[in-house]
Amino acid sequence: MPALTDAPFGGALWNPHDGVVDIHALLQGYLAGARAGGARIAYRRTVRAVEVTAGRIAAVHTDAGTIQTRCLVNAGGGWAGTLGEMAGCGTRTLIPRRRHLFQTLVDGAVDRGWPFVWHNDVDVYFRPEGDGLLMSPCDATPHEAREPMVDEAAQHALAEKLARAFPALATARITSGWRACARSRGTNASSSVVTLRSTASSGSPVSAATG
Ligand SMILES: Cc1cc2nc3c(=O)[nH]c(=O)nc-3n(C[C@H](O)[C@H](O)[C@H](O)COP(=O)(O)OP(=O)(O)OC[C@H]3O[C@@H](n4cnc5c(N)ncnc54)[C@H](O)[C@@H]3O)c2cc1C
Repeated sequence: MPALTDAPFGGALWNPHDGVVDIHALLQGYLAGARAGGARIAYRRTVRAVEVTAGRIAAVHTDAGTIQTRCLVNAGGGWAGTLGEMAGCGTRTLIPRRRHLFQTLVDGAVDRGWPFVWHNDVDVYFRPEGDGLLMSPCDATPHEAREPMVDEAAQHALAEKLARAFPALATARITSGWRACARSRGTNASSSVVTLRSTASSGSPVSAATG
């Protein structure tokens, strides 16, 4: 891969079965399955409070009424900690974190068949997206549970990491999209990212990874 020219690594793992999940299709599949199983989907409701009786969920109070239920699945992403606290789950603290993603154009052609490449030591990744490459400096900064603000410092972090890990991409130009996303991590989680690490005895490993 030309993008790996002069990249410092001692070995790489490549998994030809890696792929990128089509999140929209996955979500639609879940929704169709839920409906087929008899679920009713209620959109645009904000959970305001969770009622717990004798240690069990009794009801969920939303801005559009109350739902009596014994079961609540917390899929709140960056807000998962807030929702957990509403339900009185104070045993595991979830910290919202922010990560930046950049859509870039690079010198030379991008092959859509290139794998998702993650440099484990420097912690930076890229993968083909549209005409260019989607990249992330893999930042994971604690951030208030709200729509994450974009921080320009992340752009500098990406440039610095590219220069170290993938010099051939150091001239990448950020195009339209760069955005921040949020998710929660437990305080004791060292990593929530699935990578395939090489076991190279010298140099820095680089991995093709899911993620
Ligand atoms: C540090 C970091 C690492 C990441 N690593 C990866 C990775 O390795 N691989 C990868 O694919 N992606 C990764 N991501 C991206 C992550 O997968 C996306 O941010 C993804 O959107 C998270 O999905 P989610 O369903 O958990 O949360 P979201 O898509 O944010 O969904 C949460 C939903 O809960 C709703 N909600 C919140 N509070 C309430 C409330 N009170 N009432 C009702 N609804 C509420 C929100 O409106 C939102 O719709 C990473 C992101 C970060 C920040």
